[in-house]
Amino acid sequence: MSQQKTEASIITIGDELLIGQTIDTNSAWMAQELNKIGIWVQRRVAVGDRWDDIWKALDEEAAHSRIILITGGLGPTADDITKPLLCQYFGGKMVTDPQAEANVRHIFEMLKRPMIDRNLRQADVPDVCTVIQNRRGTAPGMWFEKNERIFVSMPGVPHEMKGMMTNDVIPNLLERFDVSPVLHRTLLTAGIGESFLAERISEFEDMLPKNIKLAYLPSYGMVKLRLTATGDRPGLEAELEAEFDMLKQQVTDVMVVDADKTLPQVVAEILLQRRQTLATAESCTGGYIAHLFTSIPGISECFQGGIISYSNAMKESQLGVRAETLKAHGAVSRETVLEMARGARLAAGSDFAIATSGIMGPGGGSTEKPVGTVWVGLAGQDRESASQFHFRFDRMRNIELTAMHGLNALRKFIRYP
Ligand code: ATP
Repeated sequence: MSQQKTEASIITIGDELLIGQTIDTNSAWMAQELNKIGIWVQRRVAVGDRWDDIWKALDEEAAHSRIILITGGLGPTADDITKPLLCQYFGGKMVTDPQAEANVRHIFEMLKRPMIDRNLRQADVPDVCTVIQNRRGTAPGMWFEKNERIFVSMPGVPHEMKGMMTNDVIPNLLERFDVSPVLHRTLLTAGIGESFLAERISEFEDMLPKNIKLAYLPSYGMVKLRLTATGDRPGLEAELEAEFDMLKQQVTDVMVVDADKTLPQVVAEILLQRRQTLATAESCTGGYIAHLFTSIPGISECFQGGIISYSNAMKESQLGVRAETLKAHGAVSRETVLEMARGARLAAGSDFAIATSGIMGPGGGSTEKPVGTVWVGLAGQDRESASQFHFRFDRMRNIELTAMHGLNALRKFIRYP
C-alpha cells in the first residue's frame, strides 16, 4: 500500500465523551503521534455507545480516510458494543484468541481477583482481524482491513491505548505507508504576548519557505514557537535547523529554552546542573508548584520539599512568619512572602526557596488588593526578591498563572549571577 495517501480519521466511542464527563485526550494524543510520523489526521469524531451511530461513523470515515483509528467500548459491560459491531461490520464470527485468553487469566491470577466468564469473553475477537495483544490490560486490540482501508480498534483506557499505539500500531503503519517525514523544532518564550511576538517576527515568518510552517502555542504567560518542516527532500533537517537558528536570534531576550520543554523542567535542569536545591512555601497555590516539580522523574536530587501554609497560623508556626508582619502588611504582601521564602529555605536547608501568597477569587478581594493580586517571594543564600502580579481569571487559572510566573521569576533568580 505504499505511495498511497496517508490521511487518517480518529473515532472515539463512549457516552461519557459526549456529555463531557471524560475529556477525549485519546484522540489528541493519537493525532500527535500520527503527525510525528507524517500521517495527517483530517477528521476526529466522538460517538456515543449506540450501534447505528458507530456503524455510520465507520462508513463515513472510511469514505474519507485510509486509516481509521478507534478507541473505546471494548470492555466487558453491556454498553461496550464495539466488538460485536466490528464483527458484524467486517463479516466475521467471534472466536477466542488463545494468547489474549492466557493474558486475561494471567492478569487475574496476578491480581488475585476472582474471574467470571464475562472477563474471559474479553479474549473473544472477530476471526477476520489481526489481534493486537494488550500488554497493559485485558481487552485486546483489533486490526481490520477492508476495501484498502485499515481500521484499528483499541481500548478506551488511555494507558492501554498508548501501549498498543507505540508497540504495534505506529510501527505497522510505518511499514505499510511511505510517509514523508515531519520535523519539528520548538522554543519557549516568556514575558512577551503572542501579538507582540507575531509583530516582532512577522518578517521572518513571511520569508519562510513553503514547506516550513511556524506555529504559536500560547499558554499561561508563555508562548511556544514551533517550526514544522515537511517534505521528502534531502537536507530537510539542515534547512529546518538554519531557520530555527534565525528564529532564535529574533527572540534571544525572551527565550527560556530552545527545546520542547516545560518551565518546571527548565528550572529543575538548571538546579541539577549546579547541584543546588529548592524548597517551596505555598499559600495560594496550595502545593501546585511542588506538584509540578514532583511530576519530574529524578527531581529528588534537587527538590527538598514544600510547606503548604494556607492559614496565617501555619505561616507563623511552620515558616516563622512574624505576627507583626501579618498584622502590618497582610498575608498577601512583599514582607510576608519574603519571610515565607526565608522560612522554607531555613526549614529545608536548601539553596533556594519560592513562596506564593495571593487572592485567587472569586471572593476575598478588596479595593486595595483585588482578586488576582499575587506576591511571589524568592530567597537565596545572600539575596532575595519579591514580585507582585495581577491576574484576572478564575481561581484555577489564577493558580496556574501564579505558578508559571513564579517559576519564571525563579528561573531568572537562580541563574543569577
Ligand atoms: P475497558 O476494557 O477497560 O472497559 P474500554 O475499551 O471499554 O476499556 P471504555 O469503557 O470506553 O473503554 O473506557 C475506559 C476508560 O477509559 C474510562 O475511564 C474512560 O473514561 C476512559 N476513556 C475512554 N475513552 C477515552 C478517551 N477518548 N479519552 C480519554 N479517556 C477515555
